[in-house]
Amino acid sequence: MSGNFADSFGCMVFNDSVMSERLPKETYDSLRQSMNEGLPLDPAVADVVARAMKDWAVSLGATHYTHWFQPMTNITAGKHDSFLTTKKDGRVILEFSGKELVKGEPDASSFPSGGLRNTFEARGYTAWDCTSPAFVRDGTLYIPTAFCSYTGEALDKKTPLLRSMEVISTQALRILRLFGNHTSKRVIATVGAEQEYFLIDREKYEKRLDLKICGRTLFGARPPKGQEMDDHYCGRIRLRVAKFMRELDEELWKLGVTSKTKHNEAAPAQHELAPIFASANTACDANQLTMEMMRIVAKKNGLACLLHEKPFEGVNGSGKHNNWSLSTDDGLNLLDPGQTPYENIQFLIFLCAIITAVDQYADLLRFSAASPGNDHRLGSNEAPPAIISIFLGDQLTDVLNRIAHGDAPAENTSGLLETGVATLPRLPKDDSDRNRTSPFAFTGNKFEFRMIGSSASIAPANYILNTIVAESLSDFAARLEQAGDFDREIHAIVSDTMKLHGRVIFNGNNYTQEWVEEAARRGLPNLSNTVDAISAIAAEKNVALLEKYGVLSRSEALSRYEIMLENYTKVLNIEANCMVEMTKRQILPACIEFSGRVAASGNALDTAGAPSRAVRRLTARLSSLTDEIDDALSALETALDRAHHIESLEQDAVYYRDEVCTAMAKLRTAADEAETLTSSEIWPMPNYTDLLHRV
Ligand code: ADP
Ligand code: MG
Repeated sequence: MSGNFADSFGCMVFNDSVMSERLPKETYDSLRQSMNEGLPLDPAVADVVARAMKDWAVSLGATHYTHWFQPMTNITAGKHDSFLTTKKDGRVILEFSGKELVKGEPDASSFPSGGLRNTFEARGYTAWDCTSPAFVRDGTLYIPTAFCSYTGEALDKKTPLLRSMEVISTQALRILRLFGNHTSKRVIATVGAEQEYFLIDREKYEKRLDLKICGRTLFGARPPKGQEMDDHYCGRIRLRVAKFMRELDEELWKLGVTSKTKHNEAAPAQHELAPIFASANTACDANQLTMEMMRIVAKKNGLACLLHEKPFEGVNGSGKHNNWSLSTDDGLNLLDPGQTPYENIQFLIFLCAIITAVDQYADLLRFSAASPGNDHRLGSNEAPPAIISIFLGDQLTDVLNRIAHGDAPAENTSGLLETGVATLPRLPKDDSDRNRTSPFAFTGNKFEFRMIGSSASIAPANYILNTIVAESLSDFAARLEQAGDFDREIHAIVSDTMKLHGRVIFNGNNYTQEWVEEAARRGLPNLSNTVDAISAIAAEKNVALLEKYGVLSRSEALSRYEIMLENYTKVLNIEANCMVEMTKRQILPACIEFSGRVAASGNALDTAGAPSRAVRRLTARLSSLTDEIDDALSALETALDRAHHIESLEQDAVYYRDEVCTAMAKLRTAADEAETLTSSEIWPMPNYTDLLHRV
């Protein structure tokens, strides 16, 4: 980055300072009001903003603009239009109108819609989201937008998130008003998404069809050294990686993404980036940009960035820790145990709302983290299990239990805050006893949802969180609004929460088999795979909830179910096809060639009168493994053929999960053993050591 950091941070972003500098005062005020209060923009204002935005973008070398949106895939999209307009007299000028800024009309027919869009009305439209700033990248002005069908149904991940931001704000404000706060105007869900990823050498990546097509290795014997030495986490960053990280930071900073922390992760070649938290909506856009820039900057540096949840078997996969909290527009973090007694009781109410929500809608939260890639990761002693539970820490749990049981408050030890209300015990100031195994952990002043996969959009997890917490806040607000005795009702809310939903609190080790059994006894759902997890979005209680708050209509919810089922079978089908191709064109030929060479050597030794037992044994093992591979290949092809003839989407997904996956695993086991026996010169692709330890 040339010059100093302060000049370049956000230099490509149409941010507040650019707006206040380039917009007339009234326009600026009107736009700010729309942004802060989520109001629709006056068309006259839009024209002025568009012109200023275009002039600013052109000054940074932009010739095009794009309505940037987030369809129901995990990547972003947009078509690029130039600002060029021809005038009647033949002159060509650069122009950009308010209408073009506010609304676009891309063809929606090539994006997943799950039956929401008929092909005869394939048009969709994109609507400017003025709460997330526009930016210039590679000569194009990017305008963050929501993407809907012509009939107004959300075809993207951002629209429900934007809707849920309103919902959580409204319900949280009801609670704040009850506690005498009449100054805050909005409550904002804040998010900081920590992003894990792998970096490997590009040349080796290019030699692996599985990595290129599927983002993960479908074959690969365990390397002699994996992550057992615990020598990578936060270890020295290699020069090549450090250069990548520096360039990535510079690119992200220019785009206003507040990349803050970078370090090596647990697995070899694995790293993490964490930004400074922001509103959930901008955090979601920033995370999409982060993932895109990671791929681009890696390529420029002769590296490949793998964002798949499980690129390598036997070493940790990658996730995304979604740190979530609620903050008022005037800067109060509502999950921060406060300084005054009233703040503390208010904190307890928010805490109880979250406990209630997470227990009642555990299945929806699990849905929000479901993907075929994440199936390889959740519950395999490196990531939280598929069971949703909450870590609160012993002290906070104790406080809640005491209130619930009407016990006397704990001793006033130092470090505990005085609540002031006789019946309420004191709150621990900071429970920094972090439990890394919990899927949903309280970390002092925020919750950390750790289930999301590394390649996923964070939008679903956050619109689900916002909605389910809004629902319990709404229940509590109704109770408190009607209560004769406010303090007594608060007591009752805490008590009810612990009685009815205390089962979701678990402060122990989530990686153990005992927890799986204990969770079953407590009746907590254990949705271990995508097919089971996604059915939550079609379950009546959940559809009704999303519909009630207008976050997803019934048809929008059901369309998401269909899209995710279809996506599941498509991903598995591509992986299976890739395995078939690699086996036929690379692995079997290599096995046959090497067997031939060994056999020839054996014959030569026999002729020379020096027969070798090792050669005979190796020949026999190779020949039977080659047969095993061939048999497993046929079985996989048969399974695939059957899968292609199943009509029902649900049954097809179940067949892929149960039969195709099993056939794939069998083929892999045989091929991986063959790899360990075959000369490395003949094996047709880079091995795990090459991939993990050669950056
Ligand atoms: P860790 O120990 O997990 O690395 P940190 O305290 O470093 O935890 O924070 C991790 C992430 O949480 C960062 O992205 C940070 O910006 C974010 N974060 C901190 N406070 C909040 C908050 N109030 N709301 C949302 N995210 C937050
Ligand atoms: Mg974390």
